[in-house]
Amino acid sequence: MRRAAGRQIVSHRSEEFRLLLRGILDRLRPLLGTSGPLLPFTASGTGGLEALTQNCIPPGGRVLAVSIGHFGDRFAEAATAWGASVTEWRVPWGAAADPDTLREHVRRAAPLDAILITHNETSTGVLNPLAALVQAAREESDALVLVDGVSSVGVTELAMDAWGVDALVTVTHKGLMAPPGLAIVAVGRRAEAMAERNPRQRFYFDFARMRAAVEEGTTTYTPAISTIFALDASLTLIHREGLGAVFERHRRLARLVRARVAATGLQVPADAAHASPAVTAVVLPPGLRAGEVRKRLSREYSVVVSQGRSSWKDSVLRIGHMGWVDEADVDETLTALEEVVGEHVARKGEAAPVEAAR
Ligand SMILES: *Cc1c(COP(=O)(O)O)cnc(C)c1O
Repeated sequence: MRRAAGRQIVSHRSEEFRLLLRGILDRLRPLLGTSGPLLPFTASGTGGLEALTQNCIPPGGRVLAVSIGHFGDRFAEAATAWGASVTEWRVPWGAAADPDTLREHVRRAAPLDAILITHNETSTGVLNPLAALVQAAREESDALVLVDGVSSVGVTELAMDAWGVDALVTVTHKGLMAPPGLAIVAVGRRAEAMAERNPRQRFYFDFARMRAAVEEGTTTYTPAISTIFALDASLTLIHREGLGAVFERHRRLARLVRARVAATGLQVPADAAHASPAVTAVVLPPGLRAGEVRKRLSREYSVVVSQGRSSWKDSVLRIGHMGWVDEADVDETLTALEEVVGEHVARKGEAAPVEAAR
């Protein structure tokens, strides 16, 4: 991938680019489960969320934002910034959204123009039951279902068309293993129709403009071409391994992380049924700060993990296992974490009698 990204740039108006783009979009479709248009905007994932709000939410539109964590909150913020009237359903961090409870929220907030759902919540390590949530939403309402699939595509099953998702965004730099650069927006028929009759002005993120360009084998404006080269290489790897095998590997690694974390005596907030195949959040023992652990793992073990977000910043560590990762990587990470946590627990054990004596 790194070698592919270093290739000599080609013009995005060339025949070579046309073939490259078509090959990429055709091989992405099965990962998202859609036969509809895929629009490659050069942007981060948040840019993709903005593209969804700009095209699919009418002026003053009524929106229900289902948030199970930091990125769900961000999607709600993007819709609010766009001038939508947003009702937020905030599920406690660590839990998934329950489809029957979603029905109640949809009924209470009706009439709605759009419902925002995060497929995989990267901040808490929770995978939402997307198929059941979309089904509940569609049965209760005609609102468009807009999905943040930033960290789920390439990691777990997704059948956008069959499940009834109206529009979804993903990026190159999470499960798709390429560098940052593209937010890829998949657009269903109802979302496209909404964008067409949506009078709100937009320019860069306009669906129709990008769709016309893609049909010509190009993009509206200069894309992140090096990222596209890398995505070409990573899609080759994904399809060579096979989608079923890729998804199974992610589930296996998630189970392995959970088992090792449990053996260390640490807690995982997500329950097993909704555990993310992409990332596992781990609650550290009291007195052990996530920032310190992260620094030590990086300096002493060359192991890279993330901290929690917002209120989980100091107490939670997040172990990523999406993309080009195998058992050996997970083993190395968990062995390092066990050592750091083990030292802390041993130190506390020694200190305890002294404290008790005071
Ligand atoms: C990373 C992430 C985003 C934000 O992506 P950026 O590329 O940093 O803008 C949004 N949603 C989810 C679920 C993510 O994991």
